[in-house]
Amino acid sequence: MDYAVARQRMVAEQLVRRGITHSGVLRAMAKVHRHLFVEEALWGRAYGNCSLPIGEKQTISQPFMVALIAEALELEEDQRVLEIGTGSGYQTAILMELGAKVYSIERNRTLALRAQRRLESLGYHHAWIRVGDGSVGWKEKAPFDAIVVSAGAPTIPAPLVEQLAENGRLVVPVGQLQNQVLKKGTKRGASIHWADLGNCVFVKLIGQQGWKG
Ligand code: SAM
Repeated sequence: MDYAVARQRMVAEQLVRRGITHSGVLRAMAKVHRHLFVEEALWGRAYGNCSLPIGEKQTISQPFMVALIAEALELEEDQRVLEIGTGSGYQTAILMELGAKVYSIERNRTLALRAQRRLESLGYHHAWIRVGDGSVGWKEKAPFDAIVVSAGAPTIPAPLVEQLAENGRLVVPVGQLQNQVLKKGTKRGASIHWADLGNCVFVKLIGQQGWKG
């Protein structure tokens, strides 16, 4: 299989055709080798528009969702991003390709270590990955220019709103276990303006500000 061709096809057919226009995001999605973030038996499916298992009952997110989120974060070079749910590290790599300084929290130690090793081996040396409950954010490193939650929350986690910088963007799937709405909040002074980006299905956010296990 020619993975470079598969990536170009993924970008054209799943991203551009569905409305992703951000050139940096499209470049990053064409560049990062998604197949290297899943086990070898799944490489042939890595450029389809689906989530795939990554072990520990978790999944790597759908390429379209990763691109939609990355676009919605409106990142500029060197901005500080908090990612909750490192998973395979694929989205971390995309955010780093966009020039972001990424702080990432994963509650599952095995996945966090695996993602850290993988990112290092692929040349992404400056991701700060921590094991813990990301639903409460990372207070010591706040404020963040952008925060992305890669797991479905029952309600908007208040600490994440607090940890946003002025004009900061928070993207988070909110709703029921099998059906959420991807929400984008932009902080303006004491208030936050919300927009809906569409329906989605993410694995659950487990933690103090998420589901209870
Ligand atoms: N975007 C990731 C990728 O590209 O591989 C996939 C993320 S996966 C859909 C969701 C991840 O969120 C899982 O790895 C899960 O263990 C993690 N997670 C769930 N609740 C969490 C929490 N409270 N804090 C940190 N990570 C959490």
